[in-house]
Amino acid sequence: MNDISDPSSSNPVRSTLLPYGQQWIDEQDIEAVVKVLRGDFITQGPAIEAFETKIANYVGAKYAVAYTNGTASLHGACFAAGIGQGDEVITTPITFLASSNCVLYQGGTPVFADIDINTYNIDPLDIESKITERTKAIIAVDFTGQPVEIDRISMLARDRNLVLIQDAAHSLGASYAGRKVGAWADMTMFSFHPVKHITTGEGGVITTDNEHYYRKLLMFRSHGMTRNPKELIRNEGPWYYEMQELGYNYRMTDMQAALGLSQMDKLDGFVARRREIAALYNESFSSLQGLIVPKQHSNAESSWHLYVLRWLPEYFAESRESLFLALRNENIGVNVHYIPVYLQPFYKKLGYQTGVCPNAETYYDTVITLPLFPRMTESDVADVITAVKKVYARFKN
Ligand SMILES: *Cc1c(COP(=O)(O)O)cnc(C)c1O
Repeated sequence: MNDISDPSSSNPVRSTLLPYGQQWIDEQDIEAVVKVLRGDFITQGPAIEAFETKIANYVGAKYAVAYTNGTASLHGACFAAGIGQGDEVITTPITFLASSNCVLYQGGTPVFADIDINTYNIDPLDIESKITERTKAIIAVDFTGQPVEIDRISMLARDRNLVLIQDAAHSLGASYAGRKVGAWADMTMFSFHPVKHITTGEGGVITTDNEHYYRKLLMFRSHGMTRNPKELIRNEGPWYYEMQELGYNYRMTDMQAALGLSQMDKLDGFVARRREIAALYNESFSSLQGLIVPKQHSNAESSWHLYVLRWLPEYFAESRESLFLALRNENIGVNVHYIPVYLQPFYKKLGYQTGVCPNAETYYDTVITLPLFPRMTESDVADVITAVKKVYARFKN
């Protein structure tokens, strides 16, 4: 495959690598950050609350709490949910490591439920089958930006008295049954890593309607401390603060919040462009035998963080690795999302075994992620389509 005599690598579709994801920062964003740098507060200032309010209003939640990154936000959510030793939390294996690592941080036990092989999201029926008397919470992940079946999962959580945390790192701007992601679950996490819908460099947020969770989230991101007179056990004076929980320093800076505020102005445009590109991919690939384009649930309006294409092995002469390398040789920055979390060596060491989520493993063995980000030009999109068709024609049985 990497042979230099290979005709596809000597005459690639592109001369430079197209990444699978990338931020889009403009002059307005840069000015917003510079303004903070020239001001009085570069952290713990007014931009944080302004950013939190903007996110909360956008998704239709009462509260938002900004954190240093999405992973820290999930850690905060697990803390607020009261997850500890002996508690089980059900999540999907087709996600980034953070969705289940946050449970381990709190001493809890992640339990993996299988995915629906059509949407690649966690299967509500398999969640149900994994519930035990120790189950405390569900962390549902909107994989690729397509919301999970949050109505069914919410009902399940309510019936079984479980906390529902939505990992919406992929789905800012997405809706389910006409209602924005961020207003459905007990707590919802968004990430602002540069490949996500909007960026703050590193950053994350939890949205919630629940005041108890909100207070816990605020404390947890700042050492478990409070200065709120209503929360103090005693009050020794205006200087007085109390540490009531073991928290961390998970605070976002004002520079980041200012960038986030400015990026929020562009969110709907970014999502619209992502949807356009995904539609072009669907149109180009859906009729090619052996390729599976991502199926959408009828209630889901995805914000398309990722575009994943499955290549059914029975239709191709070579392995997924060869197909992947052939696309890379065309300078298309393909990727694979994700390796099932429980197959990682660390999880294996904890006792997780191959085979627990067969759909997830089948999915993983057959998938390739194509580049998708709003700044892609028409010609970038055309390059991806040309390269996929070229590799398809070359390897199709
Ligand atoms: C990006 C991501 C996270 C973690 O967010 P960071 O901001 O990178 O810490 C968690 N879950 C999923 C599904 C993600 O894609």
